[in-house]
Amino acid sequence: MNSTTQHKKVQLSGNDNDCSVMFCPDCGIFEVNLGAITLRFNNQSFNEFNATLALAKKRLIAINTVANTEVNLQTASAGYVH
Ligand SMILES: [Zn+2]
Repeated sequence: MNSTTQHKKVQLSGNDNDCSVMFCPDCGIFEVNLGAITLRFNNQSFNEFNATLALAKKRLIAINTVANTEVNLQTASAGYVH
């Protein structure tokens, strides 16, 4: 491949303003644009980043579910207090 060739990026998701994911098919690099920040990943690190975010989201849902259950239990038991 000629290194002076301009690579054409493909937008995979997001919008042009605040958050987007771009991909360069020529070099296989992902770019996550968030405001003024751009994070660049190869395929492996992009998959690891994605898995890390997915796990964080899953754990946050679990924490919120436990917190809501505790609130619901407190609310439910409050009706049985004399
Ligand atoms: Zn490229």
